[in-house]
Amino acid sequence: MGAIHLNRVSKVYDGDVVAVDDVSLEVADGEFMVLVGPSGCGKSTLLRMIAGLERVSAGEVVIGGRDVTHVAPPDRDIAMVFQNYALYPHKSVRENLAFGLKQRKVAKATIDARVADAARMLGLEEMLQRKPSQLSGGQRQRVAIGRAIVREPSAFLLDEPLSNLDAKLRTTMRGELARLHARLGITTVYVTHDQVEAMTLGTRVAVLRGGVIQQCASPQELYRHP
Ligand code: ADP
Ligand code: ADP
Repeated sequence: MGAIHLNRVSKVYDGDVVAVDDVSLEVADGEFMVLVGPSGCGKSTLLRMIAGLERVSAGEVVIGGRDVTHVAPPDRDIAMVFQNYALYPHKSVRENLAFGLKQRKVAKATIDARVADAARMLGLEEMLQRKPSQLSGGQRQRVAIGRAIVREPSAFLLDEPLSNLDAKLRTTMRGELARLHARLGITTVYVTHDQVEAMTLGTRVAVLRGGVIQQCASPQELYRHP
């Protein structure tokens, strides 16, 4: 249900900066699509247009068969994780995980069950009473991921989520994200400038340069035809 379809999407910022230039992309339901490329190639802009955090200058965004081009972010049935965790500093881990569901008036029993599931999957069971300031960087990013998945969105959008972590933790978290995706099968779009991350995580990888997709293929195909 969570396929994402971009139909000839462009973004021109003030001052005539063409950040994304007539891009079409089909992300199949359950796929893990990575957008990779150098700084400034338009990855974040493209992701933010899928999320609705940035308006498109032209084109259409369709999520789960619904044209959401003019739909506000909270009504797009997506969840996002950013490089800077953006957790609520005064709330506990449990409250951070539950907050989005509470706002959406989800029943308490459902919230408790989903929070417990996410905490188990992400190794946060012992951390639920802590505040974000009492967590390591990796634990904070796990909370941010947990907060996104408890919503059970149609699509999961991540923008350089591991860039602030050290190399060892990045490798660990990469494995965790891959396992989480294998388990939940949620349609994922993942932005990174890191080629290793792209090739290990993606079921397909879209290589961007200058606002256009140069190549879009499975990691195996990209290794054969770089
Ligand atoms: P990436 O995520 O690949 O680093 P971005 O999508 O952030 O690339 O940026 C693509 C291009 O758009 C760059 O040239 C950048 O300077 C420009 N850009 C990004 N955001 C804005 C903005 N809010 N206003 C003007 N130009 C922007
Ligand atoms: P929820 O609790 O429902 O996940 P949040 O309060 O985390 O919602 O975020 C509200 C909106 O702001 C969402 O659409 C989210 O994508 C966006 N958002 C959250 N954190 C950031 C951030 N660091 N930068 C930009 N947008 C953000």
